[in-house]
Amino acid sequence: MARRKKVYEGKAKILYEGPEPGTLIQYFKDDAIPAVNQPSAAVEGKGVLNNRLSEFFMSGLNGIGVPTHFIRRLNMREQLVRMCEMVPLEVVVRNFAAGGLSKRLGIPEGMGLPRPIVEYYYKDEKLGNPMVSEEHIVAFGWANQQDLDDIVALALRVNDFMSGVMMGVGVRLMDFRLEVGRIWEGDFMRLIVADEISPDSCRLWDLRGLEAPDREGQQREPGPLNDVYTELARRLGVLPSNVTHTLKPTLIN
Ligand code: ADP
Ligand code: MG
Repeated sequence: MARRKKVYEGKAKILYEGPEPGTLIQYFKDDAIPAVNQPSAAVEGKGVLNNRLSEFFMSGLNGIGVPTHFIRRLNMREQLVRMCEMVPLEVVVRNFAAGGLSKRLGIPEGMGLPRPIVEYYYKDEKLGNPMVSEEHIVAFGWANQQDLDDIVALALRVNDFMSGVMMGVGVRLMDFRLEVGRIWEGDFMRLIVADEISPDSCRLWDLRGLEAPDREGQQREPGPLNDVYTELARRLGVLPSNVTHTLKPTLIN
């Protein structure tokens, strides 16, 4: 059999040419996404779990009519997806203040936002993925106003679905990031959810066990979900039996 062609290797995944035109194979690596200026370390089993988790969320979205690139999982680390022309943005949806929003605006971490807030970051590693406005996006031709309306609608539908699923397992979806891509059906272009939805793209806080005081009698505060890959996979019932441990997720800036 001929060796398949590698199309791209990023921090978290490798893309290979798919078996049919218009498809790609996404291979999920174990590498942790490094914080800025930090070396990346492998987290054993992370790729296997993110493959399962992204499958779980994307197939759930497909099932409620939110279009995604996910076609099917191929094996422990790979899934077949529709090839897209990526919009060079990271679309962030925030439900609770945390990370960069808290830093920039001085809003306490954990504070509920009056409504979900959508932000855009230009996906360019060398520039540090800078935050951009709709003005920049339209002026530089990364997307037009109609695309942006579609992207916001997609992002909010994903947010509703993801928030609900997480809530069902005692997890609060603080914020998450999405990448969207274009596919063509004849003359028509559609924007769909691409890349991955996993603990690497979501900031998750644990809401379980807050009622009971801890050993020192202190009331527990909500905080980041520990051992997030394994714990989330376990709560959602998608844990493959032979993967046991992993570590922290990367936070959205
Ligand atoms: P990066 O380090 O650039 O974030 P990743 O390791 O996350 O890379 O690899 C995924 C890459 O593939 C990203 O650049 C992402 O934009 C791109 N990608 C994700 N889904 C698709 C798709 N369906 N079609 C084409 N490219 C995609
Ligand atoms: Mg990525």
